Amino acid sequence: MIVYKFGGASVKDAAGVRNVVSILQAESDVNLMIVISAMGKTTNALEAIVNAYYSGDAPSLDSVKQYHFDIMTQLFERNHPIYDKVNNLFVEIEWVIEDAPTSTYAYEYDQIVSVGELLSTTIISAYLNECGFTNRWLDARDIIRTDNTHRNARVDWELTQSLIQKEVSKGLPVLTQGFIGCTSENFTTTLGREGSDFTAAILAHAAQAEEVVIWKDVTGILNADPRFFEDAQKLKSLSYAEAIELAYFGAKVIHPKTIQPLKDKNIPLRVRSFVDGTNDGTVVSEGAEVKPFLPSFIVKENQVLLSISAQDLSFIVEDHLSHIFYLFSEYGVRVNVMQNSAVSFSVCVDDDAQKVPALIDALKKEYQVLYNDELTLYTIRHYNDDSMAKVLKDKTLLLEQKSRHTVQLVVQ
Ligand code: ADP
Ligand code: ASP
Ligand code: MG
Repeated sequence: MIVYKFGGASVKDAAGVRNVVSILQAESDVNLMIVISAMGKTTNALEAIVNAYYSGDAPSLDSVKQYHFDIMTQLFERNHPIYDKVNNLFVEIEWVIEDAPTSTYAYEYDQIVSVGELLSTTIISAYLNECGFTNRWLDARDIIRTDNTHRNARVDWELTQSLIQKEVSKGLPVLTQGFIGCTSENFTTTLGREGSDFTAAILAHAAQAEEVVIWKDVTGILNADPRFFEDAQKLKSLSYAEAIELAYFGAKVIHPKTIQPLKDKNIPLRVRSFVDGTNDGTVVSEGAEVKPFLPSFIVKENQVLLSISAQDLSFIVEDHLSHIFYLFSEYGVRVNVMQNSAVSFSVCVDDDAQKVPALIDALKKEYQVLYNDELTLYTIRHYNDDSMAKVLKDKTLLLEQKSRHTVQLVVQ
């Protein structure tokens, strides 16, 4: 059994859906579990609807609706039952947004945003059946069981595993949603943005898949984000450990939670291009060497560097550090890089418009806080002089942190 995952970019329009169908038809001899994300930028659009709804503005579903119906009219005859089915999914959101929010933002978010995946899989499953690729649509909420940490739900592995195995025994191929799950009380949850990769890993782990294939608009895992580095090159292979490092430092190509469930069961992950089917992509597996051995670059924009000192500029000691970390945790601000000197402690974080000002206010009650914003954090794995020079060209270096394999550079 193999798990295939198709992201939003692969099904952003009717041509994309047809392309996915031809990929699947070419592979029709394999036993598949297929995971699909919301189409194109639907999740962002639904997030905007939740924000409007929650802040009391009148949210409009029109453009999300139009987008999906446009795709459907290119794929199905006028009288196909799919139109009613999809319409019913929209009615579910309409019911929710008719009344004022009654619960937390995170709860309302999950109820609305999850519909993106339900829409895409309903449409694509029906189209595949129409094209003769018979598949069973599965509601991921019947197999992925989570706690009720909305927007970042944690998986109940034991229950999930047995539910998945039961479904697999009923026959393949199945097609299901990434990103979404369900609590024991039947409330929909989501696993965190970009979580569909993680869903693929959960299915593979539970059903002991032979391989997971993530189909992307790039030829594989590259040594840099091609949006920032024109000369990014494909890595043919790398180890789970290396992939975890890249994801941890923020490489946007795979969700950080994806690797561990695969590593546990020694299931290789392949990242392949849905555009160029002849390219065999990148394979992530146990102990594999990074090949070719190149420095890898990870870029995080919109960073802020906080410099925290005691009011009287006395030494920063353990008591302070413990209190400072407590505040970071309390305000949910993740530390990207940190460094301390005798009298100050510097921390680089994502410049979240809500969390960071609140954290700074709290810190200022006890410390002096200076900050620099609009910075970029570059992380280079397997760095050398050339790769550092490339990143630092025409930029001002504010903080540098080196370990044996990784350098992090905060620059302006
Ligand atoms: P999906 O549609 O599967 O969710 P994403 O858009 O999330 O796909 O991920 C693919 C994108 O990730 C690529 O288009 C590329 O711009 C970006 N990316 C960032 N870092 C890397 C990297 N190291 N290798 C490949 N792609 C990368
Ligand atoms: N659709 C979700 C998102 O955009 C999940 C995913 O695509 O992985 O975050
Ligand atoms: Mg994605």
